[in-house]
Amino acid sequence: FAAKRTHVGYAVFDPSHDVARQEHLSLLGELRRAVEERQLRVHYQPKIDLAQGRTYGVEALVRWEHPDRGLVPPSAFVPFAEQTGFIRTVTRWVLDEAIRQCGEWHRNASPLNVAINLSTRDLHDPGLVGLVSDMLARHRVPAPLVTLEITESSFIDDPELALRTLRSLRALGLGLSIDDFGTGFSSLGYLKRLPVGELKIDRTFVSGMLGDRDDLVIVRSTVELAHNLGLRVVAEGVEDEAVVEALRRIGCDAAQGWFASPAQAPDALGAWLAESPWGIRQPRDEVVRSA
Ligand code: C2E
Ligand code: MG
Ligand code: MG
Ligand code: MG
Repeated sequence: FAAKRTHVGYAVFDPSHDVARQEHLSLLGELRRAVEERQLRVHYQPKIDLAQGRTYGVEALVRWEHPDRGLVPPSAFVPFAEQTGFIRTVTRWVLDEAIRQCGEWHRNASPLNVAINLSTRDLHDPGLVGLVSDMLARHRVPAPLVTLEITESSFIDDPELALRTLRSLRALGLGLSIDDFGTGFSSLGYLKRLPVGELKIDRTFVSGMLGDRDDLVIVRSTVELAHNLGLRVVAEGVEDEAVVEALRRIGCDAAQGWFASPAQAPDALGAWLAESPWGIRQPRDEVVRSA
């Protein structure tokens, strides 16, 4: 698949080339078929509340179960889907599936907040807000159980349109989260104007924070900034418990990463939630948290 991917990358940057153009069209066709033939899957990665030491929510991460190539990661088709605009179709499918799953967990007395990733193009989709509202009703899911993750780059193209979409989603009662914080170029002014409740520190700062003073300073300052703005802060890409301890000391609210669990299919996640010390150990009633 690596060779194929190289061709696709080439196609995207030089669509005038005939061979590249063929590759481009064929991947787009394959992706369309993937949605129609239900080859997309959603895996879920736990988000751990560090004060309580247990899972309060999960992030929905899309995978493509390709008949020949096996489980294809999002890095191999999400950027392509974003460039072609097909991401809107992918997002609509992921939203519907993840909200359906959220409703199932909710009614099974293990209400988990489910976070779903949105791309810039999704925020320019005039049908998005109505669609999300319909899905919540159809799957009988309270809006605060769903969080949408956006990145700073969502505000490069048409910031006013993106803001309007986010305000409408917020008005529905959904949680909003800024993903990969620190890697984009948007001004801090947006943080103030955005109706978000959560900020996720990018894993590039978190993974090295115990070996690199600059990373540690960035993580610590981001936690303080988030708290001063009234936001919950989540560290991404936490791989070991030494980092968990450091994050706790700093006062970071939540962590996500392989120290607890990678993203898993819903059945496997269900077993993990019941067994892992980071899972859901006691029944709680305060788990409905909105970002
Ligand atoms: P993201 O939203 O920042 O998701 C976090 C990524 O970090 C996931 O990769 C996750 O599997 C990975 N990760 C989690 N814990 C660790 C860890 O401890 N160490 C390391 N090294 N990595 C960890 P994944 O699933 O491959 O997704 C990559 C990106 O693809 C996501 O980054 C997101 O930007 C995008 N993506 C995934 N699903 C969707 C989707 O449904 N829609 C859209 N628009 N984008 C998606
Ligand atoms: Mg994310
Ligand atoms: Mg992220
Ligand atoms: Mg990231």
